[in-house]
Amino acid sequence: MRLLLVEDDKMIGEVVLELLRAEHYAVDWVRDGQLADTALRTHDYDLVLLDLGLPRLDGLEVLRALRARKQRVPVLVASARDAVGQRIAGLDAGADDYVPKPYDRDELLARIRALLRRAAGRGEPVYEHLNVSLNPATREATLDGQSVVLSARESAVLEPLLARPGLVLSRAQLEEKLYGWKDDISSNAVEVYIHGLRKKLGSGLIQNVRGVGYMVPKGKP
Ligand code: CA
Repeated sequence: MRLLLVEDDKMIGEVVLELLRAEHYAVDWVRDGQLADTALRTHDYDLVLLDLGLPRLDGLEVLRALRARKQRVPVLVASARDAVGQRIAGLDAGADDYVPKPYDRDELLARIRALLRRAAGRGEPVYEHLNVSLNPATREATLDGQSVVLSARESAVLEPLLARPGLVLSRAQLEEKLYGWKDDISSNAVEVYIHGLRKKLGSGLIQNVRGVGYMVPKGKP
């Protein structure tokens, strides 16, 4: 899961970045509204954590432009605890939820998980498909009801595939789920994690669609 963090305050940004990366999200951090706008036009994110008071371009303007482009990425707006008017303006401009600042770390993470679930079109926190399940919050997986231990990055590759069975995701799209801008990307990383997932969860779970990418088949192969 790839997140965009938009926060101009250096200290707050560093803390949130560390928190999100510790949860194994791939995170890009930008510190003004103009850069946020550019990042949203050029990258595919699973969620945006958007501070509203930003230099160069106001957070609300970033949000309005995003929605005007019909981009449906979930947006979690951050606002001061007592700023009810800001919160309402954010929701009316197309935010999906808000989180009060200063952040309560557990609340922030829970709201992010809830939005990611909703965006995948599911209310339940666990993906279940064929004989496999995955809980992205805990990264616990099962095969035929038996617990399987996945690495954080294996889970990050599996989640978007399991969220939409039948949809082919390219290697580049899966790579985007793995890394933030500043992380090193080894060229065969996705293949390595897919290989690991097939060993742990069965060779039929993830299909290679030649020249296009990977998918989890809708039904039994
Ligand atoms: Ca700010």
